Amino acid sequence: MTRKLLLLTLLPLYLWADAHLFVFHRFDDTRHPTTNTSTQTLRAEFEYLKKNNYKVISLERLYKAYKNGESIDDKWVVLTIDDSFKSFYKNGLPLFKEFNYPFTLFVYVQATVGNYGDYMSWEQIKEASKYGEIGFHSYAHPHLVSMSDEAIAKDSKKGMAIMEEKLGYKPKYYAYPYGEYNGRVRQQLETFNFDLIINQNAGAIDKASDPHDLDRTALTGANNIKVKLRTKTMPTTWINPKDWPKNGKITTLKATLPKEVKRIEYYISGYGWKSATVNEGKLTAKVDKKLKMHRTRIFLKSGNRQSSLMLVKP
Ligand SMILES: [Zn+2]
Repeated sequence: MTRKLLLLTLLPLYLWADAHLFVFHRFDDTRHPTTNTSTQTLRAEFEYLKKNNYKVISLERLYKAYKNGESIDDKWVVLTIDDSFKSFYKNGLPLFKEFNYPFTLFVYVQATVGNYGDYMSWEQIKEASKYGEIGFHSYAHPHLVSMSDEAIAKDSKKGMAIMEEKLGYKPKYYAYPYGEYNGRVRQQLETFNFDLIINQNAGAIDKASDPHDLDRTALTGANNIKVKLRTKTMPTTWINPKDWPKNGKITTLKATLPKEVKRIEYYISGYGWKSATVNEGKLTAKVDKKLKMHRTRIFLKSGNRQSSLMLVKP
């Protein structure tokens, strides 16, 4: 292959990196370093987005694209904030306003109803809604995977009714508390007809992404948005495991991947990174690992491409 042809073949990989959803939690709240973003870092990230012509769009715009079968622009970025902490209202919101960046605030309803110290009031949520959208982050912020179908439905019904009463409309977007879910939890939530359902599996999104299972990457700690924006989607069909394994052990990791992926790095929480070969898009890796964490993440990575799966112990 000539140099020029080779370059042309490689271009798409480097020029386009798919769209990205990000999640923040707290702003300038050093009591909780793992969920905190300093406004100094936030400003640097916003300036990076602006300088590099990223388009910060709302979830409504993203939903419209999926609904109408439009393509997903690689320069699109969606910014979300979970838990409706006061520190967003006080420290984060002014910067979103300054940059005129839309956002979706996912409300933990019980915390606002109960006037929990760290959380926004309905008045503050309403004020914030002038500049962004308001989504639903459950009523009681429970661990959904260990709940019955009825209990999941009850939590959602209760929280949605309160949000409708306080805000005058039903929220259209759902973000899983702790990012924890499985197929059954998802099915329960789908009965509420949300436009978009969002997880917390770090990755990117494209036209083929599932609007009811959109990956979202956390932006906390130091500014590394540049690296995170390079992530591309890797369409993955998980074969084994798909959910928390019955004996808590993964013997073989199996998945179907794009045919051009020949080698993969995989990560299982508590065990670090390993690599495996992929034959004709089929990954079959002998693992033999007892899962150590009640919330285990599996990552697959090939170059910039990435997919992930969350396994939650019921
Ligand atoms: Zn949360």
